[in-house]
Amino acid sequence: MTNEFDKFLKQLDVIRGSAAISDDIFAELRSVKKFLEVNIPVRMDNGKSKIFTGYRSQYNDARGPFKGGIRFHENVNAGEVKALSAWMAFKCAVVNIPLGGGKGGVIVDPKKLSLGELERLSRGYIRAIAPIIGDRIDIPAPDVNTDERVMGWMLDEYESIRGRHEPGVITGKPLSLGGSQARSYSTAQGGYFVIDSVIKKLGLKKGATVAVQGFGNAGRNIAFIMETAGYKIVSVSDSKGAILDRRGLDVIDVAKYKDEHHTLEGYPKAKYLTEESRFLEKVDIFIPAALENSVTAENAKVLNAKIIMELANGPVTPEADAIFAEKGIPVIPDILANAGGVVVSYFEQVQNAYGYYWEEKEVLQKLESVMRQAFDDVWKTSQEKKISLRCAAYVVAALRIAQAMKARK
Ligand code: NAD
Repeated sequence: MTNEFDKFLKQLDVIRGSAAISDDIFAELRSVKKFLEVNIPVRMDNGKSKIFTGYRSQYNDARGPFKGGIRFHENVNAGEVKALSAWMAFKCAVVNIPLGGGKGGVIVDPKKLSLGELERLSRGYIRAIAPIIGDRIDIPAPDVNTDERVMGWMLDEYESIRGRHEPGVITGKPLSLGGSQARSYSTAQGGYFVIDSVIKKLGLKKGATVAVQGFGNAGRNIAFIMETAGYKIVSVSDSKGAILDRRGLDVIDVAKYKDEHHTLEGYPKAKYLTEESRFLEKVDIFIPAALENSVTAENAKVLNAKIIMELANGPVTPEADAIFAEKGIPVIPDILANAGGVVVSYFEQVQNAYGYYWEEKEVLQKLESVMRQAFDDVWKTSQEKKISLRCAAYVVAALRIAQAMKARK
């Protein structure tokens, strides 16, 4: 199994020459500050107890409390959780919000649990990590297979332990428990502000064609937002195949079909493409919004886009990245493109701290301003240093983290 943390270390090595950071600080950036492994006994519906293993990784908190989601997945492992916590610190720094990087995970396939078992596991996990979290210490949120209902249970458990309200300890909560407006589609909305800024720089027209890989939360929201803004969504895909209509898809209609049939196959108003042919279609903008490593060297060789935006975390493999660089196709990196989610999480915390809640319009205005500024910072660094947007995003973030670390010494 590839150690994802090694992948992160390689990314650090790539920017070593472009970021003026002392050796001492670089050495610190190569390790996680604190890592906790917990074993959680859960009473199963059959009356027996089962032990689940979970982790919480706290990578760096120089700029503010550790921040990062909790993943429930059977492939969760220590290396992955550590890497995701490091990427969170870089993501928060690139959009310049005062938070560090953390991440949590439990090795479990939640589809095999009853609702009661899932609740007991969620409460058990938060009890196990409660001593090291807090609204000024480390703030969890949802990630793969955890949602606002799980966050609601976790918040309730944490507040029961503390004996007081502390809504800012967890973000991505239901609105009724102090969640923020626009949080549910904030990742895609943030991505939209970024791609719109890129398009303006490159002079692409609004009617440009778009293909989206993955039709889950991130994928369907970005498809809908871009369709509404006047782009032509010519293709969307799920794990089994893709649909194509050069005249433009009606995204809401496709979403309705997918919800009813749990597949895109058979959608009557578009052509169904198989696994092999889905990358052969020419589009202006390609948005991977599925899973890690889903755009391989093989895909990269045939993909013919003008811009690629990583809405998923780590979708483009390093080999594919090199091919895109060779072809001169700009790739907008994940730590910038999908940071909208953590930005609105930060807004959620700010609202919790004040006990005063903003309207959706206000959240979106603030999100737009943060995302466009972040894009400008990355673009400028990329032009000045003549490096890729990915390297530029890492350089901007690393310098900000290093500056805070230095100021503490
Ligand atoms: P999700 O589970 O809702 O959706 C994933 C989708 O990808 C599903 O439609 C699935 O069928 C599809 N898929 C899987 N393999 C595929 C393949 N090879 N080709 C095409 N489609 C494939 O997940 P999500 O919440 O939308 O997250 C997607 C990605 O975005 C993840 O990498 C996640 O870490 C990242 N992300 C999401 C958020 C968020 O707020 N949802 C925030 C930041 C990052």
